Amino acid sequence: MHTLSIKALAVGLRSKKFSARELAAHFLKRIEAHDGKLNSYVTVCADSALKEADAADARLARGEGEPLTGIPLAHKDIFCTQGVKTACGSRMLDKFVAPYDATIVARLKRAGMVMRGKANMDEFAMGSSNETSWYGPVKNPWDPTRVPGGSSGGSVAAVAAGLAPVATGTDTGGSIRQPAALTNLTGIKPTYGRVSRYGMIAFASSLDQAGVLGRSAEDCASVLEAMAGFDPMDSTSVDRPVDNYAAALDKPIEGLRIGLPKEYFAEGLAPGARDCVMNAVKKLQELGATVQEISLPNSPLSVPTYYVVAPAEASSNLARFDGVRYGHRAEGVKTLEELYKRSRGEGFGAEVQRRIMIGTYVLSHGYYDAYYLKAQKVRRLIYDDFKRAFQSVDLVLGPTATDVAFKLGAKTDDPVAMYLNDIYTIAANLAGIPAMSLPCGFVDGLPVGMQLMGNYFDESRLLNVAHRYQQATDWHTKLPKGFE
Ligand code: GLN
Repeated sequence: MHTLSIKALAVGLRSKKFSARELAAHFLKRIEAHDGKLNSYVTVCADSALKEADAADARLARGEGEPLTGIPLAHKDIFCTQGVKTACGSRMLDKFVAPYDATIVARLKRAGMVMRGKANMDEFAMGSSNETSWYGPVKNPWDPTRVPGGSSGGSVAAVAAGLAPVATGTDTGGSIRQPAALTNLTGIKPTYGRVSRYGMIAFASSLDQAGVLGRSAEDCASVLEAMAGFDPMDSTSVDRPVDNYAAALDKPIEGLRIGLPKEYFAEGLAPGARDCVMNAVKKLQELGATVQEISLPNSPLSVPTYYVVAPAEASSNLARFDGVRYGHRAEGVKTLEELYKRSRGEGFGAEVQRRIMIGTYVLSHGYYDAYYLKAQKVRRLIYDDFKRAFQSVDLVLGPTATDVAFKLGAKTDDPVAMYLNDIYTIAANLAGIPAMSLPCGFVDGLPVGMQLMGNYFDESRLLNVAHRYQQATDWHTKLPKGFE
């Protein structure tokens, strides 16, 4: 059951091959058997999942189910889940039980999906390796001595190892796409504003977007469709109808114009990864796409720009964790100032503290113009690069990450090396455009992902191209040894 697509699971449920309860129990058994090696779940919903599954079975028996009814999923632990601990990878929220559901959690619940548990993640989604989590690192199912990528590392490890058919994730600078690439999954970060951020713990509000991690574009399409859409509770959510992603999947891609940004294939990209991506380009050409080289001249500025904008917003968002209202509270303090300092000092890990300090610095009087305002101007230039590109191409294609998954601990002492992981993914967040990663080959047994970036609200084209590619290739069907 854990190797079936969502569509096949839905057929199995309707033809009574298995019930939603059996499905939920099957994944629980797999979690019990395998997650000790991976650490992908921080919370496993043992009882509530069975109750939700029973409700799904009842709906299906009445013939009322929706396409996702009875399908289990894991939620990244950044999404508030009513009555269930929501810790965001942080000691700060280790005892926090959310009093409400995030909009996407509520929507997927209404669609009948069964929450199997909450997935481990980098603390407050800050990281590229899932090593900043208070709950310990997540291991990559393809090689447990390696990282699964981050910050949605628990989500990808769970899906890649068959401990959930699909999972939610968030992407502020690459946290859906980079981990997808490192674990042979398909992941989509939609256009900024397509999916509600209400109840999603904020990291950098102008960049954060929720999305889906699954084993195919088809699986991602069905879950994204159920998640997306206007939400009056999120002022940045866009009031515009959601496309029928599933219906667009099979469209032929003849005449599709693909742009390859020369900056994404320059120095820094591992030759093996480059070959995989270029083979995928050839395959898409065989399917009828045309390819041209383009330039996104400001892309080398995206990492430095991001590391001004994201920490600035994070320092502001994380100011709410003060030891007074909710979250970790230091004990035995004598003054208010001591309460703030110790609660935050104890509750936040090193990477989060580093970002708060950078953010506070770049927003401070005297430096605001030099750093923050400047970064916003460069952000505009990056956005303009894409605007220009989309005048001559339909989508932009490149690698997702510079190389395959690296060893645990390899980059933990060097923040800049860690930050450079997102060199190809950050620009899409700065511009707000949709982007996805999908499997395109292996180097020494480790997966490589390619990235597709589209124009605003062009999710259905990305999913369509990815689906056509996946119909013509079998990379995405490969499973890690020991988890088949
Ligand atoms: N790795 C990037 C960071 O650490 C992006 C994280 C994300 O997308 N949440 O900020």
